[in-house]
Amino acid sequence: VSALPATDPEIGALIEREIRRQSENLELIASENFTSRAVMEAQGSCLTNKYAEGYPGRRWYGGCENMDEIELLAIDRAKQLFGAEHVNVQPHSGSQANMAVYFASLQPGDKLLSMDLAHGGHLTHGFKMNFSGRFFQVTHYGVRPEDERIDYDGLAKMAEVHRPRMIVAGASSYPAIIDFPALRQIADAVGALLFVDMAHVAGLVAAGLHPSPVPYADFVTTTTHKTLRGPRGGMILCRAAYAKEIDSQIFPGIQGGPLMHVIAAKAVCLKEALQPEFQMYQNQVLRNARALAEALRHHGYRLVTGTTENHLLLIDLRPRGISGRDAQVLLDRVGITVNKNAIPFDTLPPYQAGGIRLGTPAVTTRGMRENEMFDIGDWIHRALTHRNDSDVLEKIREEILSATVAFPLPG
Ligand code: PLP
Repeated sequence: VSALPATDPEIGALIEREIRRQSENLELIASENFTSRAVMEAQGSCLTNKYAEGYPGRRWYGGCENMDEIELLAIDRAKQLFGAEHVNVQPHSGSQANMAVYFASLQPGDKLLSMDLAHGGHLTHGFKMNFSGRFFQVTHYGVRPEDERIDYDGLAKMAEVHRPRMIVAGASSYPAIIDFPALRQIADAVGALLFVDMAHVAGLVAAGLHPSPVPYADFVTTTTHKTLRGPRGGMILCRAAYAKEIDSQIFPGIQGGPLMHVIAAKAVCLKEALQPEFQMYQNQVLRNARALAEALRHHGYRLVTGTTENHLLLIDLRPRGISGRDAQVLLDRVGITVNKNAIPFDTLPPYQAGGIRLGTPAVTTRGMRENEMFDIGDWIHRALTHRNDSDVLEKIREEILSATVAFPLPG
């Protein structure tokens, strides 16, 4: 029996409400997913009670024999899955994984060349209000106006001019494949380190459906909760030569005790990712993204790059006369959860944003396929078209409610 309703009825009720929200809405936030019951069980286990500062075989506290085995399993599985020489599974989040990479390899004031947040990059890639933008001298590369793909020639020229100590790649809202061999060449030409943050595409990389950065980059980080479908957290993969620096930057550099319950859940997720079903799942994520793109193109929407090559799509809503912010609120009303997102070379300010970002990992976990993606495309189009007609919006809400019943959440 559950203890929460008696101990803390307020939190218990809010969790119940959130379960309902997650199951009755269509989750299209590209960075979210639904973990398996097994991942949830590991994360909700007694391991949260244990301190295990240090690393397997080198802990500061007694009683860590089970922790050592758990962490070693997580490390071994990650090495196997991604073919990495060294793995650190302790970062509490993607941001902390990135912080450890910077602190392990750069000095304050060093030069970074990274993707512009406004073109799809992440806050931790040098945004001025983020620690990464405060500690380092940052120059941004971006996408070309013509095709909205990374301008590798421009990047190479910027690298020549700015001579960065590190080139950072990886993105939060970029719907195209990233060319890691080209980035390695550019980095080598100017003697820069190459750091790839593959948080968004890690699940596709694990399944062999997006090229892997591991053979090309000095450092690779990921979150474990996006396409990889594990618990919230981060992970660092690197060459053996950097192992000591990375480990000591995580602990004692920027963290204390590792979250062993989360590390156990990471191990479970990595085991799941090594199974053939995971590859089938990721394949369907891609098919669904392409189907959703086709559905929206059919209704006349403009997609950034015109298409998608991964799990996400960026829709430019400016031609429809609605901002990303207003579309997000409107779609929430009918039960479709998305986030507003800047479009490259946006003409609206970031808090309004010219578009929305859509991703298929979560709805695919629920078992939805191409047909459901066409329905979702229709619902989005109808809601945006009839945004001032509450009868139509209510009708769409009902249709979505009955559609979600057929696709229960895992566990
Ligand atoms: N890196 C990228 C590319 C991301 O998209 C994100 C999350 O949105 C992060 C890092 C940060 O991860 P976290 O939210 O776990 O700090």
